[in-house]
Amino acid sequence: MTVPNPVPERPASPWWQVPDPLRAVPLRGDEVADVAVVGGGIAGLAAAYHLSVALPGRRIVVLEARRVGAGGSGCSTGIVAPGVGGPITQLRRRYGDAVAARMFARSVDAVRCTVDLVRDEGMACDLEVNGQLVAAVTHRQDLALREQARAYADLGFDVPYLPRREVSALLRTDAYAGALRHPLAATLDPVALCRALRGRLQERGVAVYEDSPVTALVPGPPATLSTPAGRVTAGRTVLATDGFTAGLGVLTDTVVPLTAHVVRTAALNAHEMAALGWRLRDSVVDCRTFFDYYRLTPDNRIILGGGRVGVPVPGPGNGSRDGDDRSGQAAWRRLESRLRRLFPLLDDVPVTERWSGRIGAIVDRLPHVGAVPRAPGVWFTGGWCGHGIPLSVAAGADLAERIGAERGDREPVPWQRDRSPQLPRDPWRRWGLQAYVRSLDAVDRVQASVDGSTRPRAA
Ligand SMILES: Cc1cc2nc3c(=O)[nH]c(=O)nc-3n(C[C@H](O)[C@H](O)[C@H](O)COP(=O)(O)OP(=O)(O)OC[C@H]3O[C@@H](n4cnc5c(N)ncnc54)[C@H](O)[C@@H]3O)c2cc1C
Repeated sequence: MTVPNPVPERPASPWWQVPDPLRAVPLRGDEVADVAVVGGGIAGLAAAYHLSVALPGRRIVVLEARRVGAGGSGCSTGIVAPGVGGPITQLRRRYGDAVAARMFARSVDAVRCTVDLVRDEGMACDLEVNGQLVAAVTHRQDLALREQARAYADLGFDVPYLPRREVSALLRTDAYAGALRHPLAATLDPVALCRALRGRLQERGVAVYEDSPVTALVPGPPATLSTPAGRVTAGRTVLATDGFTAGLGVLTDTVVPLTAHVVRTAALNAHEMAALGWRLRDSVVDCRTFFDYYRLTPDNRIILGGGRVGVPVPGPGNGSRDGDDRSGQAAWRRLESRLRRLFPLLDDVPVTERWSGRIGAIVDRLPHVGAVPRAPGVWFTGGWCGHGIPLSVAAGADLAERIGAERGDREPVPWQRDRSPQLPRDPWRRWGLQAYVRSLDAVDRVQASVDGSTRPRAA
C-alpha cells in the first residue's frame, strides 16, 4: 500500500521553539536491517534504544516521517505518571486482584524506568521528579477516590488519600474535594527527550533517518519498507506510529486517532507562585472522563491539557491541523476558562500558546504491545490513549526481549498482546465515536452540576 507523508512539517507546540541543528539525514538507497523501527516518537526511539542494548551488533534502523518528536510526543504536556487502563477499582473488577496489582506495579516501574533512562544516559530534557495528584472535582468522585485509596492499600501500594484541606496545602485552589497522591511521577520536555534519544541511538550505531516517511510496507519476513528515496529490507519491523498507524494500512480498525488539546501560560512571577503555594510542584490530573491534566515548567508556566478530545477526519494530518478547526478553537477556549476557574488569582496571567496533537486509542483503554495480526515479523507498540510517555519507554524494553527471543523474568500484563478489540469501519466509526465522545462529555458536565459544587460548602 502506498501513502503520502502522513505528518505535517512542524507541530505547533512550544517545545519546538528550541532550534535543532542536529537533524538526521533522510534515507537514500537500499539498506538491509535486522530490525526497522517506523516512527521517531518516544515509543519508537525507546524501542530502538532497548533493541540496541538487547541485540548488540545487529543493524537497527529508525525511519521517521519528519523529525523526531513530530507526532504526539512533540505535542505532549510531558507528564510522566503511573496508571493505565482506568481506576484501580475498575481494574480489580475487570482483571482480578493479582493482574490489577501487576498492571499498576508495571505502570509505576515504567515511571522509574523513564527517570532512570534519562538519568543514566545523562539526557538533558528538563526532568523534574515530583509526584502526581489525582483530584476529585465532584463529591461522587471524592468518594470514588477514597475507595481507590483502600483498593491500593489492599493490594500493597502506598497511594494515600488527601482530604480537601491537605490538597489545598499542596496547591491553593478550592476546586478539589480531595485527591490521591502518587509519590513518584515526573515532568520533562518531550521534544528534548526525543532529540537526546536520537543522539544516544546514533552513538550506539543505530541509523536514524528523518524526513523518511514509510510510504509502502510489505510485511515479511523480511519486510520491505519504501520511503521516497530509499528502501529497507528488515527481518523484523516495529511500528511505533500510534495515532498515524492507519496510514500504513495496518490495525485500521483497532487504533483510533484522536486529537488532544493543550494551552500554556506565560511564566508566573515569584508573587504568583507564592500565591499558588505549589511547593511540591506535583502534576495534577482530575477524575473526569475527559480529565484536565496540568503541570509547571521549569520557568513556572502552567501547561494545561484536557477537555473533550476531537475525532479527526480520516487521512493525513498530525492533529495540529485538526486543532485549528472550530472544535479545536472551542476546546482551547474551554481549557482557558477551566484554568481561570481553577486559579482565579491568575486572571491577569495570559495564555501564550495553544496547540493540539494526535494520540492513538484502543477501545478498552489499554495499549497494544505485540505482534500485528496477519503481518508476520511486524510488531506494534502504541495505542497509549494519551498516556504513553512512561509506558512506551518501558514497552521498548519488553519488545526488545520478545524480538530478541529472550525470556523475560516478568509475568505478562494485558497490554502485551497480539490482538486488540476492534471498532466498526468508517463512516460508522467516525459518527459513532463523535456521538460517544459527546455523550461522555455531557455526562462529565451533568455530573459536575448535579453532583454538587466542588467548592467547599458554606458553614
Ligand atoms: C496534546 C497531547 C498531550 C499529551 N500529554 C501527555 C502527558 O502529559 N503524558 C503522557 O504520558 N503522554 C502524553 N501524551 C501522549 C504521549 O505524548 C505519547 O503517547 C507518547 O509520547 C508516545 O508516543 P508515540 O511515540 O507512540 O507516538 P508519536 O509521538 O505520535 O510518534 C509517532 C511517530 O511516527 C511518525 N510516523 C507516522 N507515520 C509514519 C510513517 N508512515 N513513516 C515514518 N514515520 C511515521 C510520526 O511522524 C511520529 O513522529 C500526550 C499527547 C498529546 C497529543
